[in-house]
Amino acid sequence: MFKIGQLSAVLQHTSCILCDANTHRKVAICKDCWQDLPWQHNNCCPQCGLSSLGEVCGKCLSDPPFFDYTRALFSYAYPVDALLQAYKYQHQLHLGQTFAQLSLQQFHPNGIDFILPMPMHPLRLQERGFNQSLELAKGIANYWQLPLALSHCQRVKNTPPQASLPLKDRVRNIKGAFSCDDGFRGKHVAIVDDVMTSGASLNELAKTLKQAGANQVSCWVIARTH
Ligand SMILES: [Zn+2]
Ligand SMILES: [Zn+2]
Repeated sequence: MFKIGQLSAVLQHTSCILCDANTHRKVAICKDCWQDLPWQHNNCCPQCGLSSLGEVCGKCLSDPPFFDYTRALFSYAYPVDALLQAYKYQHQLHLGQTFAQLSLQQFHPNGIDFILPMPMHPLRLQERGFNQSLELAKGIANYWQLPLALSHCQRVKNTPPQASLPLKDRVRNIKGAFSCDDGFRGKHVAIVDDVMTSGASLNELAKTLKQAGANQVSCWVIARTH
């Protein structure tokens, strides 16, 4: 059985990162584990990614977010939650590459002009040592041959981590956190992030992008909580 502690830099072996079975696939997850992953099903609101009958949900109709589309690879459930935590907090960077490979299943590059990783404040970056969204976005941009937008958008407020706050405080916490130049004018931007929970950060970033002239904004996330 898979334990986080057993995750090591395994890409050089062709064994499954979840069960250690030999796999000859390009991606380091064997066929059986692949089928058991909590893939996000298609019956989701195309705008916010929450369960619906595949149509825009009532919440998006009555109070539309600033982003236009959300695609999530997975539900935030085992073992994806454990993999994401290992990736983020134990710096298991090879998992970023695996997630980028898995993204081929769900993300659709048609019409996307830029990939934008969720920006991290420079002080937070110093603390953590890497921006998990940037590493994911690099892999994804590389797979899809899309340009990464790194210089057009910054995080200008070092806010407390959203996960440390109750849901109701997250919108206020993230307000005014981003700044964009006009490099996105008329463009369709896909924001890449690891986990989407309340969506408050993605919505604030989408708002900033739209105010800077972006035409459409998609959210591409590895996992969506429900
Ligand atoms: Zn396996
Ligand atoms: Zn919705």
